[in-house]
Amino acid sequence: MKGRGMDEGWRIRVRGQVQGVGFRPYIWQLARSMGLRGRVFNDPEGVLIEAAGDGLAAFVAAIPARAPVLARVDAVTHEGAVFDLPEGFEIAESRGVGAETRVTPDAASCPDCVAEVFAPGRRQGYAFTNCTHCGPRFTILQGLPYDRARTTMAAFPMCAACRAEYENPGDRRFHAQPVACPDCGPRLWLEPGAGDAIVGAVAVLRSGGIVAVKGLGGFHLACDAGNARAVALLRARKRRPAKPFAMMGTLAMIGATCAVSEAEAALLRDPAAPIVLLQKVAEVLPEEVAPGQAVLGWMLPYTPLHHLLIAEFGGPLVMTSGNLSGEPQVIGNAEARDKLRAFADAFLMHDREIARRLDDSVERAAPPMVLRRARGRVPGTLPLPEGFETAPQVLAYGGQMKAAICLLKNGQALLGHHLGELDEALTWEAFLAADADYAALFDHAPEVVACDPHLGYRATQAAHGRGLPVIEVQHHHAHMAACMVENGWPLDSGPVAGIVLDGVGLGPDGTIWGGELLLGDYLGFERRGWLSPVAMPGGDMASREPWRNALAQLDAARLGPLADEMFGAQPLALLRQAVRAGVNAPLTSSAGRLFDAFAAVLGFEGAQTYEGEAAMALEARARPDGVAYPLGGVEGVIETAPLWQAWAQDRAVGVAPEVMAARFHAGLAQGFARRARALVERGEARAVALSGGCFQNALLLEMTVVALGDLPVLIHRRTPANDGGLALGQAVVAAARAVSG
Ligand SMILES: [Zn+2]
Ligand SMILES: [Zn+2]
Repeated sequence: MKGRGMDEGWRIRVRGQVQGVGFRPYIWQLARSMGLRGRVFNDPEGVLIEAAGDGLAAFVAAIPARAPVLARVDAVTHEGAVFDLPEGFEIAESRGVGAETRVTPDAASCPDCVAEVFAPGRRQGYAFTNCTHCGPRFTILQGLPYDRARTTMAAFPMCAACRAEYENPGDRRFHAQPVACPDCGPRLWLEPGAGDAIVGAVAVLRSGGIVAVKGLGGFHLACDAGNARAVALLRARKRRPAKPFAMMGTLAMIGATCAVSEAEAALLRDPAAPIVLLQKVAEVLPEEVAPGQAVLGWMLPYTPLHHLLIAEFGGPLVMTSGNLSGEPQVIGNAEARDKLRAFADAFLMHDREIARRLDDSVERAAPPMVLRRARGRVPGTLPLPEGFETAPQVLAYGGQMKAAICLLKNGQALLGHHLGELDEALTWEAFLAADADYAALFDHAPEVVACDPHLGYRATQAAHGRGLPVIEVQHHHAHMAACMVENGWPLDSGPVAGIVLDGVGLGPDGTIWGGELLLGDYLGFERRGWLSPVAMPGGDMASREPWRNALAQLDAARLGPLADEMFGAQPLALLRQAVRAGVNAPLTSSAGRLFDAFAAVLGFEGAQTYEGEAAMALEARARPDGVAYPLGGVEGVIETAPLWQAWAQDRAVGVAPEVMAARFHAGLAQGFARRARALVERGEARAVALSGGCFQNALLLEMTVVALGDLPVLIHRRTPANDGGLALGQAVVAAARAVSG
């Protein structure tokens, strides 16, 4: 197949997520359809095409326009070249060291594969059907380069029929590493049970039982979402009284309970198939699914197994993470039998091993945000903005809650998957495993490690044990930097006003911060505004029991008698004494604790059963009326006493709690926006960045964006505003300091 000598043509470079997504066969088909000669191959920078013939410009223009669904084309460039081309167009061997070092995230079943599973043919009813456009990727990966031998599919030698598809460039399974069929691939079964596994599992679900379902990145516990007793049983067994359950169903099932806009439907259908938070519009499902919530978390079936299960069951299922309380999700069959025994009446099992634990991602479409970044999103990368070209390899360890690590290399940031709370021993093991795993997979050799300054964080202790130079990045500065880098803010674009509304993070003055207006860039910051510091009576207890914060806030606002009236059953005298003596009552400017306090005065009782419960309840009940409670102060302290006094007046005249909840949100939004606007108008800041865990609150985010009006505003869309994005911010701050010497 050698050519006739030297040919003149174009050398075309394609950069982006273009390996392992069917890109070469796509180019092969496109080039042949346009009558071009040449070749396409992978190399360390992506995909390279050498082509000759008429219509090269049209060919280049068509490349991004018709790219495969899982591809992300960042750039297509070309130059004239002279080379020796074959007669036709061919897919050539990869070239260069480390030519195929990329792997894409796991992707939901494509429409072609779903159709195949439900139509007569050799894959009818087959739960592991996949192709180049869909299927498992990162969750089956054991090493790079990505090919079947280095995945958990290595245990399943391809049959002749699958191999023929795999080797045919015209087939949508060309080089699809996990290709499989009932003759050669993984198999499904029910424990206990005989006969059809799906039919058996559905019988358990119909009888109100709970089924442990082995999925892509771990086990789920499934039950009938429409059966209040089944859901209550699951809550009782999991000892999870109130935290909302995620659900799985078809778009029609989802539409029966929630409003689904076009953007939300698109996000549900995204190959990442995240859990999408949607506004509830009809009380079709039992309240037990998500007690007190105005939003429900839904995902579409994303594997053939899920499609078969939902189709056979004919209704929505609760699909919650299969784990012991606080522990990571279970991934192994033996581990599932052992740990989920007390929860599940049956196990829907298969024999394809899960190489890597990945939770479902949790996202919102309006406004767009990522609350938990995991399956379907990792190991996706984020390009670093201008100015970071010479940045060294950096490793960042993140925080203690919602832990995730971040790797910088070659101008890209790889924010790893959600790990969980590092207090838990098994999550800590998972953190260490992820650290080693990412380093090996991406051949990462960091020159510096970044972390939070809080020495109580396990990740911080581990960073100091690495034997590398350590850069500590203040918690809220890291949040702000993460928001800046996600928005492509160049290194030398000047300072930004950062409104960082968060739970708690250590400030350089030794107090606990969390309701901050920062002015700064990647390199550093000044603290320009902060919520009135108030005690957290009982320390960590105050993070669990909202009324403690209400007591401290009301006392600080000279409204102590109201605290006596509302929380008289609590040991107030003792706590007040502790606050006065400064015993176990650290001061904080945390916005998260302010939210908790306000939720408590509006009636949230007792302890939170999960993080953010009180604040979510406050958001859920808010009914805006255009009024905002005032915050005081001009420089420095952002005084909260005026807010509390305005609330006390409302309460005295019987204003509805829903209205007071909204006025509280509006007060915070407008108070911080006013301060940030002043920084921009004085020319000190060029834009406003919104970050911190409180900006998971869609109402607060919208009200703040509205209050900022025509100012340039940076918000999180693809990375979490919560501590899940911390490592990204730490990494870029460390990189900025390295680049700037
Ligand atoms: Zn497919
Ligand atoms: Zn086969």
